[in-house]
Amino acid sequence: MEQTNKYIRLAADLQSDSIVDGPGLRTVIWTQGCAHHCPECQNPQTWDFEGGGLVPISEVLKAIDELEEQTGITFSGGDPMYQPEACTEIAKYCKEKGYNIWVYTGFTYEELLKMADKKPIYKEFLKYIDILVDGPFLIKERDLSLLFRGSRNQRLIDVPKTLKKGKIILLDEREYNEEKVFEREPMYI
Ligand code: SF4
Repeated sequence: MEQTNKYIRLAADLQSDSIVDGPGLRTVIWTQGCAHHCPECQNPQTWDFEGGGLVPISEVLKAIDELEEQTGITFSGGDPMYQPEACTEIAKYCKEKGYNIWVYTGFTYEELLKMADKKPIYKEFLKYIDILVDGPFLIKERDLSLLFRGSRNQRLIDVPKTLKKGKIILLDEREYNEEKVFEREPMYI
């Protein structure tokens, strides 16, 4: 793929060993910038599109090369969908290295498909995503018992199956089992 963006704006360094941003031990890429402004968002410091810091993509790839014992990579923020070119480039690299990829976004899957009509890079990004956690955090839908998400409107979308079938297929949460994640890496490819 042609390199379309040499920098990504990040809110923080890559964070390894997360167990709350998808299954297994994950490294989180905290993107900077979000216009959804969900009331009671846990990361309002990531909203500012001029905040955080610009990081060369080559540095992010180098950090990914140095990871050890990680099950997958999670893009969060902020909203990664405001930097689709940079995120696609990084996601493609992670996928080539065999990582399972989760992405959190305040957009719904349906909104992303509409955005992809005008900017095909969104379709390209989706191709590398295993699970998309979609939709804004809605305080009135908040539920602390949910798996890997904060509010009931958010869905764990199995993107490869969804793209194949042409309709939304959710992760079967009954099949989620922490031990399976470590037995079979990566989990969804
Ligand atoms: S989409 Fe995420 S980062 Fe953006 S305001 Fe909502 S909860 Fe916060």
